[in-house]
Amino acid sequence: MAEQQKIPYKIYLDEDEMPENWYNVRADMKKKPAPLLNPGTGKPMAAEELEAVFCRDLVQQELNNDDRLIPIPEEIREFYKMYRPSPLVRAYCLEKKLGTPAKIYYKFEGNNTSGSHKLNSAIAQAYYAKKQGLRGVTTETGAGQWGTALSMACAYMGLDLKVFMVKCSYEQKPFRREVMRTYGADVTPSPSMKTEVGRKMNEEFPGTTGSLGCAISEAVETAVKTPGYRYVLGSVLNQVLLHQSVIGEETMTAMDKYGVKPDIIIGCAGGGSNLGGLISPFMGRKLRGEADYDIVAVEPASCPSFTRGKFAYDFCDTGHVCPLAKMYTLGSEFIPSANHAGGLRYHGMSPILSELYDEGLMRAVSYEQTSVFQAAEEFCRCEGILPAPESSHAIRAAMDEAIRCRETGEEKTILFGLTGTGYFDMYAYQQFNDGTMTDSIPTDEELERSLAKLPVIG
Ligand SMILES: *Cc1c(COP(=O)(O)O)cnc(C)c1O
Repeated sequence: MAEQQKIPYKIYLDEDEMPENWYNVRADMKKKPAPLLNPGTGKPMAAEELEAVFCRDLVQQELNNDDRLIPIPEEIREFYKMYRPSPLVRAYCLEKKLGTPAKIYYKFEGNNTSGSHKLNSAIAQAYYAKKQGLRGVTTETGAGQWGTALSMACAYMGLDLKVFMVKCSYEQKPFRREVMRTYGADVTPSPSMKTEVGRKMNEEFPGTTGSLGCAISEAVETAVKTPGYRYVLGSVLNQVLLHQSVIGEETMTAMDKYGVKPDIIIGCAGGGSNLGGLISPFMGRKLRGEADYDIVAVEPASCPSFTRGKFAYDFCDTGHVCPLAKMYTLGSEFIPSANHAGGLRYHGMSPILSELYDEGLMRAVSYEQTSVFQAAEEFCRCEGILPAPESSHAIRAAMDEAIRCRETGEEKTILFGLTGTGYFDMYAYQQFNDGTMTDSIPTDEELERSLAKLPVIG
C-alpha cells in the first residue's frame, strides 16, 4: 500500500505523532564515547564537578550512557509545537534539475526566527536552568545562530542571558546582535575586558578579532564567577545531540509512514549536533543490526576535523578552563581561516560522532566553500529556500551523490539535513555573486603545529 502512495512535497506529522522521548544513541553503542576528563587530574569528571559549570539535570543527561529513551518534559513539548514538527521535503524540483533517478529528501529546520535547528536544544537547556531556580546562563556564539536561539529560549523561560560573541561576527553581523538584544540578551564582543581570559587575550594579541575557543572560556569564567548562573553550550556535548534527536525521530516516523527507507543520510558537521540528531535513531537501527545506512558527515575543507584531524583528548576552549574531551580535533589552538560557514569553524567534534566515525560506522567528506556556494545557488533557484552556508555543505554532498546515481542509474534514496536559512549571511553571498570568494585549506605543517600541542594524558 505504502509503495503506491504518491509522496507529498512536504510530509508533516500530526501533533500526536511528535516524539514524547528523546532517543539516546549511547544506549545502543557497544563502545561508549570516552568520558570528559578533569584537565588538572586527568580523571573522569564527576557529576559534582560538572555541576559547578553546567545545570544539574543536563549533567545527568551528559553522563547517561544507558537509558535509551529520555522523556521530553511537557513544557518543552509545548514549545516544540510552536515551530515543530519541521517539514520533511521531497526535493522533486532538484531531482528534475539534476536529471537523477535518485530520490532526494531534506529535513528543513530553518522555520523559526533563529533560523536553525539550534532552538531544539536551546529550549531544553533553558528549561532545566529555570527548573533548577537559576537566575541566568552564559554562552558564546560564533556566527550568531546559537546566541539567537538561546535568546529566544531564555526570553520564553524568563531567564537572564549573557552572550559572548566572537568579535569579528559582532562587527560583521550587527543584525544578529540586535535580534539577540531584542529578545533581551546581554551581548559582549569577545575577547572582552570583562574576564581574566579576555583581558589576557587582548594583552597578548592586541586587535585580535577573537575565536570561538576564546569566547567559550570567557562564558565559562563568567558563569562560574556569577552567583545563580551556569554555562550552556549549543553543540558538541552529548546532551545537545540528545535534544537534537527530535530531528531524526520526526524524520524516521515520517519516512516509515510512507514506507521510505533512506540509503544515504547526509549532514553538515560543525560540532556534530544536527548530524548527530538526524542520524541518531537510524544509527540505533544500524547498531542493533536492523538496517544499514551510508552515513556521511560533511565539513569545510578549511576546518577538516574528521577528514584530517586526530582522535585524541583535547581542550574544548582556548583558555583551557573546560574539561578535556576525546574527539576528532585539529588542536585547540587551530584558528580556521575566514570560512563563511561560521557554525562549522570549531576545532573539535562531538565525542559520540567521533567514536562512531572511528569505528567505521559513518564516513566524512570535505568541500571548499566556492563549490558549497555553487550548490546553494542551484538549490535555492529550484527549491526556493535560501540555505545557510553551513547547510549548503550537506546540499553539495547530496547533489554529488544524486549526480553519481545519474551516472550509474541507481535509484538511491538520499536524505539530508537542511539545518537553516542564510538571510544573515548575505555578505558571504555577495562575495560569491561578485566572484571574489576564495578557498583556503590549511597546510599539513599548520595542522601538525596545532596538533603538536594536544595535551598529554596519564
Ligand atoms: C550551528 C549550525 C550548524 C553546525 O552545528 P552542528 O552542531 O554541527 O550541527 C549547522 N547549520 C546551521 C544552520 C547552524 O546554525
